[in-house]
Amino acid sequence: MDNNNKQPPKKPEGKKPKIWVLLIVTAAIVLLISTVYNAMVNGQYTQTTFTEFMAEVEAGNLSEVEIRHDRVIYLTKDQAAKPARQQKACYTGLPYGDILELAEKLDAPGTEVNVEIVEDNSTIMMILYYIIMFGALFGVMMLLSKKMGGGMMGNMGASKAKVYMEKQTGVTFKDVAGQDEAKESLQEIIDFLHNPGKYTEIGAKLPKGALLVGSPGTGKTLLAKAVAGEANVPFFSISGSDFVEMFVGVGASRVRDLFNQAAKVAPCIIFIDEIDAVGRSRDSRYGNNSEQEQTLNQLLGEIDGFDSSKGIVCLAATNRPEILDKALLRAGRFDRQIIVDRPNLQGRLDTLKVHTRKIKLAEDVDLKKIAQATAGAVGADLANLVNEAALRAVRKGRKAVTQEDLLVSFETVIAGTEKKNTVLTDTEKRIVAYHEVGHALVAALEKHSQPVSKITIVPHTSGALGYTMQMPEEEKYLQTSQELLTELRTLVGGRAAEELVFGVKTTGASNDIQRATDLAKKMVSLYGMSDALGLMAPASVNHQYLEGQAYLDCSDETSSLVDKEVQNILSSCYNDAKNILSTNRALLDEISEHLLAKETITGDELMAFVNADNAETTDIPKE
Ligand code: ADP
Ligand code: ZN
Repeated sequence: MDNNNKQPPKKPEGKKPKIWVLLIVTAAIVLLISTVYNAMVNGQYTQTTFTEFMAEVEAGNLSEVEIRHDRVIYLTKDQAAKPARQQKACYTGLPYGDILELAEKLDAPGTEVNVEIVEDNSTIMMILYYIIMFGALFGVMMLLSKKMGGGMMGNMGASKAKVYMEKQTGVTFKDVAGQDEAKESLQEIIDFLHNPGKYTEIGAKLPKGALLVGSPGTGKTLLAKAVAGEANVPFFSISGSDFVEMFVGVGASRVRDLFNQAAKVAPCIIFIDEIDAVGRSRDSRYGNNSEQEQTLNQLLGEIDGFDSSKGIVCLAATNRPEILDKALLRAGRFDRQIIVDRPNLQGRLDTLKVHTRKIKLAEDVDLKKIAQATAGAVGADLANLVNEAALRAVRKGRKAVTQEDLLVSFETVIAGTEKKNTVLTDTEKRIVAYHEVGHALVAALEKHSQPVSKITIVPHTSGALGYTMQMPEEEKYLQTSQELLTELRTLVGGRAAEELVFGVKTTGASNDIQRATDLAKKMVSLYGMSDALGLMAPASVNHQYLEGQAYLDCSDETSSLVDKEVQNILSSCYNDAKNILSTNRALLDEISEHLLAKETITGDELMAFVNADNAETTDIPKE
């Protein structure tokens, strides 16, 4: 049962292309086209002055005249005599209002001019034409710029576009389940945003910032938003990775921008997500990067520089506080660290309640059961789970979410969706069934184990061909060495069953073995649970808020001793598991056949088999 932290996908930040930029570009193109067009059209004619034209009229040199609303186009007799292709007409502007007068003059008896008055509404046509052209061009540009994700125009002035401000977040502490300690620490900041005067009167230095520390999805962003919501101030948010750019100096200018904008609307909250992207320690251990360094320096400068009595509070989130630059954590900067923990049972229950507030639940829903089953899950997982359940209910055409929906989506979140089309051969199926029953039976027959809640051989998309789910009865913070050994025996129980029944070792056990090895390593190197090493802990934990990876930090001899001990523990657990299964071989066969037939059996069914067997053979004590 491992819970992978699914972080909800980040909403892409829409870089809106500035409409006025598009408008100007379109207008410029239209202007260019019309200029070129006019030049081309006018090139067909020779331009003359009106006086020249009148002279030709007086001289009776004209052959054809075309009078338009604004110009006269005429062909002299000389030109008319040429072959049609070489003729070149002239044009001249026509002073307004002279049209009829001119026509009369030209049409006077005795002249043999071919006069044509072109009744053109070309002004309107021209305007219409321009409007249509403009519209079409503008449309195309909009489409293009959308397709490019705003890349074409949006990048201009991007430093401002990336900062994203919410006037009102609409989130309050009511929306954040659990996290009482974090809320308490943040309460003071809210109070301070409400009335900074109260603090400045006494002369108290106001807090400039706080660092929210916790695993991904535990609700750090949500808490920051809730602080803004509670204090009813605007919320600026930006992700640390937005600062880090290809070009040196861009990040720094963004930081400057951000604080400038914030200062304009203070009091407000500035939230920097993933601050480790900029705040990484500047020592060379993590690589040197002058852009990052410059951005960090700017950030430090801004934090020192802003006047906190105006009511700006800078919150930042990270899951790797240990890599942050010490300068960031210095007094007067992010000197407060607020731990945002993974929720405990009550916290998970509250989170489920928060997220099911707006969802119609059927009578049979028992959120407590779900909360119990989801040990280790973070708020984001639970939000995801509830949403999946609601989606499933809709798919099934139901009006309310049932417990089954929640349980199935719980499996989706944990083990990926059920995949029914993986075709296994019959032998493979038998092996998988025995493997899973091996896990379950070892767990069921042991004293210190968590009860099995479900065994299935329906393959999941995550690649697991089947799995056994154990559900703790209560939240546990301490585990005894017996419990850990039981867990190890349960983990290797799958492989033990395979080998016992089929005499084969399959790849299906690889995940079990990995997990068993990790656990055994921790027992030896962190928990002081081995005979050979005693209380010594040769490993240290890195990244406490991520996966809690331990690395060995000891001499080579100790290190090889650790390996030996791990091997010893694993092999003795494996032997135990095999013994348990071989003494209960009949039971193993019986349950496996049942599982093969039904594909999924519940923990109760399993226990029914086990108890029936116990009743038959009372001479073999349980355990
Ligand atoms: P983080 O910033 O720590 O990675 P987020 O604040 O983005 O996590 O949380 C993601 C989502 O998970 C939130 O939008 C919310 O729906 C849910 N969530 C997380 N923690 C809680 C909580 N304590 N109460 C209610 N919802 C939560
Ligand atoms: Zn297994």
